[in-house]
Amino acid sequence: MSMARRADAVHVRAPGKINVYLGVGPRRDDGYHALATVFQAVSLYEDVHASPSDGFSLEVSGSVDVSGVPLDDRNLALRAAKLLAQHAGVTEGVHLDIRKGVPVAGGMGGGSADAAAALVACDALWGTDLGPRGLHDLAARLGADVPFALHGGTAVGTGRGDELTPALARGRFDWVLVLSEQGLSTPEVYGRLDELRDDALADDATSLLEVPVALLQALRAGDAQELAPVMLNDLEAAAVLDRPDLEHALADGVRMGALTGIVSGSGPTIAFLCAGPEAARTVQAELQATGHEALHVHGPVPGAQLLV
Ligand code: ATP
Repeated sequence: MSMARRADAVHVRAPGKINVYLGVGPRRDDGYHALATVFQAVSLYEDVHASPSDGFSLEVSGSVDVSGVPLDDRNLALRAAKLLAQHAGVTEGVHLDIRKGVPVAGGMGGGSADAAAALVACDALWGTDLGPRGLHDLAARLGADVPFALHGGTAVGTGRGDELTPALARGRFDWVLVLSEQGLSTPEVYGRLDELRDDALADDATSLLEVPVALLQALRAGDAQELAPVMLNDLEAAAVLDRPDLEHALADGVRMGALTGIVSGSGPTIAFLCAGPEAARTVQAELQATGHEALHVHGPVPGAQLLV
């Protein structure tokens, strides 16, 4: 029997992520693409409050536009709660109050962070005490980015991105994010990449499925100057094809002093790596002055954490 104590209400915070590196291989038979990616969790958060309830219910608010978030069983947090209940034989329900800080459909894994937070919150609320391994297994069933949102920090992801190996990252990296009002659909961006590759008839994609040693060394050294030239996102060309304005934004940030800029995951959020906090504040202010919505964040930060 579990020794865990049931809680009255819990608050869990989970971070959004950026992909410092995203190498995309060919589409696999299961429809997913093989990936070699490096995630970094950054200081932009989802807050999930879970309280006891007879059934399953959900409310969503936040500092970002939440109109695109489904409130039914398509919601990843609700699916996470139900999966955990079913897995552990829990008969009670939960009310989830999600406060989003991560842009919706922005390529920063906000929905995955909600799912990871819901798993940790319900595990504490119901006293199911699944432990890190049990939570990881459920997370991987919910989505490829959910395990990383549980673990946080900096990690290499292979397979669908869900087979994680922690990566050493010293110090802190300063990022300026440029947000977009309109999100991009992850499956559509992958589809566009497939089309681009088919057209080029040069799909030598498997050669990309290794994270460069120089990138891991730069992370280990905490050296933003070394990291900038080796960052890469194979999805960037496909995202830019849908959203040509991203190319202008990428050039703007670099002109204003960022070391480099990259589309985060499937976009459209752009992450600019800066030399330090002061440089990041300058880049953020200048981007905002030219009409971009820009945020200064840092990484790595921990994964889903129980706060109360
Ligand atoms: P990905 O993890 O695929 O990179 P993303 O970061 O681009 O995704 P998310 O905000 O995580 O984008 O969500 C993508 C889509 O998932 C949304 O458009 C929405 O339809 C659906 N979704 C399901 N659950 C959630 C949730 N809790 N929060 C936000 N979106 C959700």
